[in-house]
Amino acid sequence: MTKTIQHVDDIFRLLKQQMAPHGKPTVSQKKPHVPETPFVTLISCLLSLRTKDEVTAQASRRLLTKYHTPEMITQLNLKQIETMIYPVGFYKTKARRIKDISQTLLDEFEGNVPDTMDGLLRLKGVGRKTANIVMVYGHKKHGYLPIDTHCHRIPNRLGWITTKTPEETEQALLKILPREYWDDFNDLFVRFGQTICVPISPFCSICSLEKYCKKIGVKNCR
Ligand code: SF4
Repeated sequence: MTKTIQHVDDIFRLLKQQMAPHGKPTVSQKKPHVPETPFVTLISCLLSLRTKDEVTAQASRRLLTKYHTPEMITQLNLKQIETMIYPVGFYKTKARRIKDISQTLLDEFEGNVPDTMDGLLRLKGVGRKTANIVMVYGHKKHGYLPIDTHCHRIPNRLGWITTKTPEETEQALLKILPREYWDDFNDLFVRFGQTICVPISPFCSICSLEKYCKKIGVKNCR
């Protein structure tokens, strides 16, 4: 028999209420003066890897306000990209990646961002998390679950699943999370993981999910 998540409707209702004042994470946020395209989502996501939200937001704005298509990016040299995205983590590697991916999109995909997981995963530096994010927030497709560190940690703490990697978490959640919650899952859990169920010493005393949580692996909380 397939395992189900107890009280899942209540949990998502409470989570939506508690996260409502916090808005959306940077990658899925609408950016002023930047078109909402799959390419913009892809580049924002690459910039966000191992980088704080505020830093990602500023770097995305500096680069994407003026340069938001593969053609525009390939006109820039590496130094120009590096300067615009600094100080995101690994900015030199990311500048090279962004330029290479833009060139690949022009050479192999007629300047378009692929709208399949297989196509996206062919791009160098694009892993499952980024590909899923582009499918959900870039192409607005349903049926995908982007899993980052928060989306991996929290379902394990809640006791929904017992997994070791984000890839295992994605596969486990695809089986037990009702489909109606897939579209909201990443936004909600990323925000929740940044504000309440933080990696070290989560704020359990103010958490709206406390009565549903098994706190697996939580040694200290506030
Ligand atoms: S009760 Fe604590 S560990 Fe459980 S979800 Fe809330 S903050 Fe996270």
